[in-house]
Amino acid sequence: MTSPASPKTYHVKSFGCQMNVYDSERMGDLLSADGLTAVNTPEAADVVVLNTCHIRERAAEKLYSDIGRLRQPRADGSRPTIVAAGCVAQAEGAEIGRRAPDVDVIVGPLAYHRLPELLKQSETGRAVDIDMPAVPKFDSLPQRRIAQASAFLTVQEGCDKFCTFCVVPYTRGPETSRPAADLIAEAEALVARGVREITLLGQNVNAYNGALTLAGLIRALAQIDGLERIRYTTSHPRDMQGTGGDDLIAAHVEVAKLMPYLHLPVQSGSSRILKAMNRAHTRESYLATLARLRAARPDVALSGDFIVGFPGETEADFQDTLSIVREVQYAAAYCFKYSIRPGTPAAAMADQVPEAVKDERLARLLAAVAEGSLAFNRTTIGRRCTILLERPGRKPGQLIGKTPWLQSAVVSIPGAAIGDLVEVDIVDAHPNSVEAVPVVPSSQESAAA
Ligand code: SAM
Ligand code: SF4
Repeated sequence: MTSPASPKTYHVKSFGCQMNVYDSERMGDLLSADGLTAVNTPEAADVVVLNTCHIRERAAEKLYSDIGRLRQPRADGSRPTIVAAGCVAQAEGAEIGRRAPDVDVIVGPLAYHRLPELLKQSETGRAVDIDMPAVPKFDSLPQRRIAQASAFLTVQEGCDKFCTFCVVPYTRGPETSRPAADLIAEAEALVARGVREITLLGQNVNAYNGALTLAGLIRALAQIDGLERIRYTTSHPRDMQGTGGDDLIAAHVEVAKLMPYLHLPVQSGSSRILKAMNRAHTRESYLATLARLRAARPDVALSGDFIVGFPGETEADFQDTLSIVREVQYAAAYCFKYSIRPGTPAAAMADQVPEAVKDERLARLLAAVAEGSLAFNRTTIGRRCTILLERPGRKPGQLIGKTPWLQSAVVSIPGAAIGDLVEVDIVDAHPNSVEAVPVVPSSQESAAA
């Protein structure tokens, strides 16, 4: 069975976080610049890139089941060229080669700028690049082709923090920041293509240090005409302490384009577990950071990440997690069962929590988070705000847009289009969305009367 010698089409499938979504887009840019055309399904593609995530175990299993499907011969006896990219490729390159001999290219997240070259190389045997090169990949990427109103922009990669449960420092390497001048140029090019909102991405985005601090970069980006909204994610509580944190909080007050939203993962409400996780923050220091931010910007929406069932987590520790969820009243939260990651310190810890206990705690945590999200959404009823329309709703005529607080707002506005920023009043709230009505300009109101 052969893969196509001169591929014409490609499909990139993204697993995991927003940084992978950005990387997938950039791999698409590279392949398009090389003359290939994007197609919507893997079945229609000559080259299929699986951009993997290694954060939890199941993500790697998804890679192997996708490879299993792709290697089945098509009607003409061919199969696509298969590329395993991303953090699983980085961490398990040799293992992938053994378990899935049909994979043609294995490329890590720091080396994907070489993808077109690796594809050519794969015509004569499997091509592998899981190096962590000194030359940043961003310097070798073509112009972006994005066509949506909202875009991601990776500003920082890697991690030096070594939480005991996490593989990121091993798969994405040490913390590096892209030069501010490059980011401003990339943002200007995005705005010229119609982008109106940019979300700055980093594994620890608030550790950004590329001639400017993150707050400095946000202030510089806010000067770009046509860029209406700026967001950033994911922030680390440790980097919110001290002057860097103060500066970012000040930016939330001064920069109107910076949306009132902070994603600040706490992982656990128990300081004892946070210490075992090597998080370098306590429950108290985390809550103090949120209090500083809320004092400066009272309407800020907060979200977080949580892990249940970290080794040694008792019911009392878990109760601390439930109580922090209630105390903070998160607008949203991402909740995970602890997943053993080979090679990380927590994998070797005693007192691993049984799967059934993790399941049961996760269910209780999700219920508490849903209650908090509904309570937060209810606090926004009656607010007037601008939403960025992103996609059609389920019913005819409905559109869904994002509020400043990152809620999905459902609205019907005759004549409005995806990509428009429109003013609305929030009139009702659900756990995962709000309902809104357009603000009628006063001239139309008086004409109707
Ligand atoms: N750097 C960010 C921070 O420290 O807050 C988080 C980035 S990490 C890629 C995204 C989330 O994955 C983490 O916040 C954590 O909740 C989750 N995660 C990481 N390793 C995990 C593991 N072994 N098991 C379960 N969840 C995990
Ligand atoms: Fe992983 Fe911790 Fe680094 Fe976040 S700070 S990426 S959780 S090691």
